[in-house]
Amino acid sequence: MNLGVYIQVPFCQTKCTYCNFHTGVVSRDRYGSYADAVCREIAEWFQRKGDGDLREAAIDTVYFGGGTPSLLDPVALANMVGSLSRRLARTPHAPEITLEADPETIREDKAGAWLAAGFNRISLGSQSFNDSELTPAGRMHRRTDIYRAVETLRRAGFPNISMDLIAGLPHQSRESWENSVSEFIGLRPEHVSIYMLEVDEGSRLGKEALAGGSRYSAGAIPSDDAIAECYESACARLAGEGYEHYEISNWALPGLRSKHNLKYWRREPYIGFGAGAHSFDGHTRWANIHDSARYVACMEQGISPRERATSVTIGQALDEEFFLGLRQLDGIDFARIQRDYDAELHDRLGELQARILNLESQGLIERSGGHVRIAPGKLSVSNEVFVELLG
Ligand code: SF4
Repeated sequence: MNLGVYIQVPFCQTKCTYCNFHTGVVSRDRYGSYADAVCREIAEWFQRKGDGDLREAAIDTVYFGGGTPSLLDPVALANMVGSLSRRLARTPHAPEITLEADPETIREDKAGAWLAAGFNRISLGSQSFNDSELTPAGRMHRRTDIYRAVETLRRAGFPNISMDLIAGLPHQSRESWENSVSEFIGLRPEHVSIYMLEVDEGSRLGKEALAGGSRYSAGAIPSDDAIAECYESACARLAGEGYEHYEISNWALPGLRSKHNLKYWRREPYIGFGAGAHSFDGHTRWANIHDSARYVACMEQGISPRERATSVTIGQALDEEFFLGLRQLDGIDFARIQRDYDAELHDRLGELQARILNLESQGLIERSGGHVRIAPGKLSVSNEVFVELLG
């Protein structure tokens, strides 16, 4: 089986109000030593013994996420891709190599250097086409930057662009949302990810909203019902434009699904490098320390940055299959699950069948062709289905 590689770049220019990721704003002087540390971690991982056959596997996807990886010097990005090159060269097809980029960071010279380094897919953090939503969210770019970025990337020759939109930003109305979707469709990117705003303790905006405050325009967050309606409307419009909805938050033109992200949803192995990066070898999940300065210090001192490792029990693996299967529009392939988890499923089958029947009677899931999937029109309440099914 081929291997996916994730490289975490936890740096941003500012902190967006809604962001609940482990990212920070640091001096640019620290970018170079961070990239060097990642190259060292990659080299050491491939030299060490252990973790099964993964070190011999061909790498068919690489994903640079963050944070804002496009802030780094293109030479540093090229060095990190280069440190994987021996394994990349073993794949029969060109590997998918994605760079997350924010619109305001894109320049012609950088786009050319990214292509030369091997990147062939850009995931653009567009989020909205309305400046009245981008500004209070703390985004650095404006609507015109998105157009300029897409034009620059296309002119450079990027064949595959994905764009993010967020349903539920403060000050978003149904009209402004439909406008964002129209502008997105007009640009015809190959892929789109739509996320519904998460209001939780992990972001400044979420904390403020939960406390009933009004900073960061927390009082202007649309209602849950309004957010769900925006999401459902986008589902219908994207389907009408030829985009295939293949995962709750993701759509692609035919043949252009994210190969890297599919590995996560299919429980295929991937190795993460960098501060806070997660890995899964098929049996164990592990993560690196989050703090980027400590991560660099570990690599410089020859100390493993691995913070915690957890063996996945058969019961947990089955739960993951259900959770990740329901996220995909194809649903859970029950025949395969029965084959792979026979003994574990045997003990839980009665309980699961009762829960599935209950969800089906509520119209939340449907069964056909041996698959169980979330019912059309109910994807916006998928969290309720997960809780009900998995307990
Ligand atoms: S650019 Fe992305 S990762 Fe960085 S603060 Fe904003 S939302 Fe978070």
